[in-house]
Amino acid sequence: MDCKPRAKPILLFILLFILSFIRSALLTIHPSNEVNLLDSKASQGELGWISYPSHGWEEISGVDEHYTPIRTFQVCNVMEYSQNNWLRTNWIPRQSAKKIYVELKFTLRDCNSIPLVLGTCKETFNLLYLETDEDQGSRFREHQFSKIDTIAADESFTQMDLGDRILKLNTEVREVGPLTKKGFYLAFQDVGACVALVSVRVYFKLCPFIVRNLASFPDTVPMDSHSLVEVKGSCVNHSKEQEPPRMYCSTEGEWLVPIGKCLCNVGYEERGSSCQACRAGFYKSLLGNVQCSKCPPHSFTHHEGALHCGCEKNYFRADGDPPSMACTRPPSAPRNVISVINETSVILDWSWPEDTGGRKDVTFTVLCKRCRPGQRVCEACRSNVRFLPRAAGLQNTTVTVGDLLAHTNYTFEIEAQNGVSQLAPTMRQYAAVTITTNQAAPSPVTVIRKDRTSRNSISLSWLEPERPNGIILDYEVKYYQKQEQETSYTILRSKGCNVTLSGLKADTSYLLQIRARTAAGYGASSRSFEFETSPDSFSISSESSQVVLIAISSAAAIILLTVLLYIVIGRFCGYRRSKHPDEKRLHFGNGHLRLPGIRTYVDPHTYEDPSQAVHEFAKELDASCIAIDKVVGAGEFGEVCSGRLRLPSKKENCVAIKTLKAGYTDKQRRDFLSEASIMGQFDHPNIIRLEGVVTRSKPVMIVTEYMENGSLDSFLRTHDGQFTVIQLVGMLRGIASGMKYLSDMGYVHRDLAARNILVNSNLVCKVSDFGLSRVLEDDPEAAYTTTGGKIPIRWTAPEAISYRKFSSASDAWSYGIVMWEVMSYGERPYWEMSNQDVILSIEEGYRLPAPMGCPVVLHQLMLHCWQKERSQRPKFTDVVSFLDKLIRNPSSLLALVEDIQGLAESPGEVVDYPMFISIGDWLDSIKMSQYKSSFVAAGFSTLDSVAQMSIEDVRRIGVVLIGHQRRIVSSIQTLRLQLLHQQEKGFHV
Ligand code: AMP
Repeated sequence: MDCKPRAKPILLFILLFILSFIRSALLTIHPSNEVNLLDSKASQGELGWISYPSHGWEEISGVDEHYTPIRTFQVCNVMEYSQNNWLRTNWIPRQSAKKIYVELKFTLRDCNSIPLVLGTCKETFNLLYLETDEDQGSRFREHQFSKIDTIAADESFTQMDLGDRILKLNTEVREVGPLTKKGFYLAFQDVGACVALVSVRVYFKLCPFIVRNLASFPDTVPMDSHSLVEVKGSCVNHSKEQEPPRMYCSTEGEWLVPIGKCLCNVGYEERGSSCQACRAGFYKSLLGNVQCSKCPPHSFTHHEGALHCGCEKNYFRADGDPPSMACTRPPSAPRNVISVINETSVILDWSWPEDTGGRKDVTFTVLCKRCRPGQRVCEACRSNVRFLPRAAGLQNTTVTVGDLLAHTNYTFEIEAQNGVSQLAPTMRQYAAVTITTNQAAPSPVTVIRKDRTSRNSISLSWLEPERPNGIILDYEVKYYQKQEQETSYTILRSKGCNVTLSGLKADTSYLLQIRARTAAGYGASSRSFEFETSPDSFSISSESSQVVLIAISSAAAIILLTVLLYIVIGRFCGYRRSKHPDEKRLHFGNGHLRLPGIRTYVDPHTYEDPSQAVHEFAKELDASCIAIDKVVGAGEFGEVCSGRLRLPSKKENCVAIKTLKAGYTDKQRRDFLSEASIMGQFDHPNIIRLEGVVTRSKPVMIVTEYMENGSLDSFLRTHDGQFTVIQLVGMLRGIASGMKYLSDMGYVHRDLAARNILVNSNLVCKVSDFGLSRVLEDDPEAAYTTTGGKIPIRWTAPEAISYRKFSSASDAWSYGIVMWEVMSYGERPYWEMSNQDVILSIEEGYRLPAPMGCPVVLHQLMLHCWQKERSQRPKFTDVVSFLDKLIRNPSSLLALVEDIQGLAESPGEVVDYPMFISIGDWLDSIKMSQYKSSFVAAGFSTLDSVAQMSIEDVRRIGVVLIGHQRRIVSSIQTLRLQLLHQQEKGFHV
């Protein structure tokens, strides 16, 4: 008992002594992942823990190094047996802890260092806990507590330590868990030790909020076991998941194994643990944790968070340019262009532009323009001009341009382009050079066709060379027997594109070459073409030869007799005197033999006395039957009046009356009346009808039907745009029909033009103006040509201009011009171009473009009429049936040239379109209409499919006759060529 009051002051003294030395030891820095539930040293007032019994544990105040009061507990009843002193903490709410840690700091006195305590002094104490859902206040039951551990001191202190001021503070930590209730108490049970509890800290561990890889992870309480907690992170503002961010929270409250990450959005960069907007003048175009970049040269941004920088004025960025690339501009023009001309080709060479615009992708494009004298606007060159290596996208500074026309002015515009040239059309610059090509020989003939073969002759025709490079004067045709290997050969010259080789050996192969000649000399020869004459099939046996000979002789005699009879009767009747025998004109039209059964035109010049011809072909009228009303026009020989004609027992008719002015010469009278002699031979609804002539009284008159609307050209001009296309096609059909009639009669008009077509009140068009020599004299459009005569250049075919080769084919050319006049409502062909320019342009392949609103098919027909090779022009019969088909299928007139102009090349180019719009047309044209159904039944329903047919196909579909097979196959070949030509032109109708 005595000891007790003594021991307490000793202990107190000891503890206070110790405390003053251990204050630094209490300055413990706890890891941030520990969350305190209780910390005794943090309490400045009494802790209010329960001691039981009351003389057991004592609460004592002390100070720490900052002189902040702290609370400690001590007990030291070492002198007495059976000590059972409890100290219980207040109720500690568990919060989210699943497992707690109890850290005790204490000192313990070595029992050996206390005299007289043997058997009673202990050197351990017990740590216990009790879980409850609520605070139980001062209620305390020992048996409810569970023992956590017996706590022993690692080091205990002695009296000597006190003297030496040696500090022996023990720290013990114990884990308690899992905890499940809302809170718990701790208790310290002393069984007779001398112990001082300097501090008690209860805490649990936590993986604290963290931002890792731009993902934030929240405070996470670890598991009570040893397993890890998987936690998903969320991307910070302005960032996106690249791979889902995850981490694991360990029981020690540590974050482990970061997986996945977030990336800053475009326009944002990583700064610290967040994504911040790029500053003005910077951009970031990529998702990712890279820094914003400064705007590249010639670009800027005035706002924050830019994805890319905008270009400065006059600078651009091409589609494929990355945002990191500087803005660029089109290059300046190429420099120092040099041209080296070689005949019809030119080498162009230039230097790089001074300014490439800041880009490396500079290429060059060469544009070829052809400039005609006197025309301010140049036109694009034809597509057959060849560029080597190419015209556009040139990487080198040179190009060779070939296949130009000889003696022609060209301008080449060389433009340097780079990736942004398209974006700045107004900034594009080019260097131009103008050249004039030299004279050049024509290119070789490439297409030769066999027209007819017999035992000892072959007729051939060919197409003019692709590049005549001038007017072709003639062709040289060289041929020889194949066997003779050119040791002996024959040369023929031909002005046209056809020739007949006669005097050949039967059944023999011949090789042939053709070359064209212009003022520049001969062009290169064509390749050798091989042809064979027919076999000698008439090998007659000796017995039969006599019979055949007799038969042939009899036939010849009959023919001779017939011819003689014809001539004798002709002379006897005095019908015609051949003054200027012009066989072609009398008996051939368009170079073809006249068809039997059709009347032929008789040239009044073939009469010795032309007035005889007048009386033969024109009716003499009595002047008293004619009443003149008014003057409607002026002809070359006098006025043209309208009036009325009343013939006895006939109803009065409106007529036109052409008068011969007073004071005429005999020749003028003859020429004036020759028109009536010609007109009187015709009888067709589209040819002006002659009523008669007045020759026996004065004035001499020619009376014709009256055409209310006068001449077609002025009529169209005064009704510009007032007709439907079908009406115009109807007029053209009428003119074509009149011309068909004339060509069938063997009459060549020579001056077909809208001014020479008359129109009646029903819009019926009739061909008029049938002079003879005067035709070309009185036409104001006629001009003198180098060959002498006067010719209406704009309406006339080239061969007629060059060597007066007038034919129905040259009329077909003029018809094409009339079509153009009609479709353009009386526009002047070739506008204000001079006659000379018209001739040159036509020679070089230029053709009138389609008038506005002209259906494609009509322009095609015009171009067909303007084929250089006259045999390729349509016959009037084809024109009439073609126009008839158009009228029957008005939908074929819907496609206008301007609608498809993008597909065609230069609109003025010659395009060799076939006339056929169906297989039926084609078969009709070769007089094989009977096979229409066979073609269709065999599935050949388009011209394209027909063009692919072989001779076997033709036989298979049921064409049995060899002659028919031949005709069809050779026409298929032509068709194939024409379609190929169309395909090359990229043009489909
Ligand atoms: P020509 O001498 O035939 O060229 O005729 C001169 C002009 O007279 C023509 O341009 C027409 O305006 C007019 N003309 C000629 N023949 C007729 C006719 N049959 N009906 C109406 N006017 C005509």
